[in-house]
Amino acid sequence: MKKLTSADSLITINHYKNLLAAEGIRSEIRNEFLGAVVWEIPWVEAWPELWVVNDLDFDRAMQLITSVESESPSAPWRCKKCGEENGGQFAVCWKCSASVD
Ligand SMILES: [Zn+2]
Repeated sequence: MKKLTSADSLITINHYKNLLAAEGIRSEIRNEFLGAVVWEIPWVEAWPELWVVNDLDFDRAMQLITSVESESPSAPWRCKKCGEENGGQFAVCWKCSASVD
């Protein structure tokens, strides 16, 4: 088991996991269920993490994730219409459905 990456959103981690699964790479999500230990560690360490099951898949898995990250910038954006903050993976506001531009 090797840690691939972590993200502040389980949606992102799940997206990566599905991506790897499509390539036949098995991975596991850690910190999926944030619970009682959270207050003892910095919150960044409680982000969901993606671990590759087979170390031999690590390099390929990392390449896949890196290519996806560069394809779709994941910087959060603020809706001009309602002011709601949205994740970078969304093209429309989740709250009012206004588009990003
Ligand atoms: Zn909005």
